[in-house]
Amino acid sequence: MIDLHTHSSASDGTDTPGELINKAHARGITVLGLMDHDTVAGWDEAIAYLRPGLSLVLGSEISAQTADGISVHMLGALFDRDNEPLMTALAKTRESRFGRMEKIVGRLNEVGIEITIEEVLAQLSEGATLGRPHLADALVAKRIVKSREEAFELYLSNSSKFYVSHYAPTPEEAIRLIKEAGGVAVIAHPLASLRGRIVSIDSFKSMVDAGMDGIEVSHRDQTPEAQELLAKVVKQYGIIATGSSDYHGNGKMNELAEFTTTSEAFAELEARANARRVVRK
Ligand code: AMP
Ligand code: FE
Ligand code: FE
Ligand code: ZN
Repeated sequence: MIDLHTHSSASDGTDTPGELINKAHARGITVLGLMDHDTVAGWDEAIAYLRPGLSLVLGSEISAQTADGISVHMLGALFDRDNEPLMTALAKTRESRFGRMEKIVGRLNEVGIEITIEEVLAQLSEGATLGRPHLADALVAKRIVKSREEAFELYLSNSSKFYVSHYAPTPEEAIRLIKEAGGVAVIAHPLASLRGRIVSIDSFKSMVDAGMDGIEVSHRDQTPEAQELLAKVVKQYGIIATGSSDYHGNGKMNELAEFTTTSEAFAELEARANARRVVRK
């Protein structure tokens, strides 16, 4: 079983990388992708917990934004983490998430919701990428909402008046950075329409031209119709279809391996990286 897209406490997942590896083993997963938002901070701990039977695909879910302000998540995997341009771009995004969070907190304060940036940062593991889920956790801790889900519904969604974006490269820039670092680029849940505005089917062309290797087709936030449409796009461009859970620990309902990638698709993807970087013990 191949699950190429999961999160740990190095970003907005609730399991430490070590816990995630242990759960993946217990679940019978054979290939696990660690894709924390805009960081590689969880990689070393994940490697340390690895045992025979499970292979690790290290990567990052890179936040991107189109020229017209649509949020896109680009999965980058099997790249060289010593690549300066890519690491610099990720650091810039992580950095800009702090000022952005202060702005969101300020907007909430304006309508009388009492929350501080310190309370948000208290929810963050050391060195982790800051995100709205940590603000959600702070609101839960103060009993302002019951769950992350409710926090997003009431205050934090992309269409909310409290929403503020952060710096992010364009999808094409993100793809080029990943490819130049020797990795593979797969757009994550492109038709997850409940999350906000989504890219048009036409916009895949320039991403494929930039070197995009695949599309995450099977994902709980995409309807069967959306998945069918994406499968056609994959065929049209001769790229690769993946499926994955987008597991976040207790932070979301998503269960490990609820959607998976075929071994054929994974073999094709692995072959597109410029070196053999899947970690096996
Ligand atoms: P950010 O990176 O700060 O823009 O926050 C985006 C993250 O929020 C996504 O990666 C999801 O993990 C999380 N998220 C989005 N919608 C929800 C939701 N309804 N419930 C829980 N988590 C969510
Ligand atoms: Fe997330
Ligand atoms: Fe995502
Ligand atoms: Zn994700």
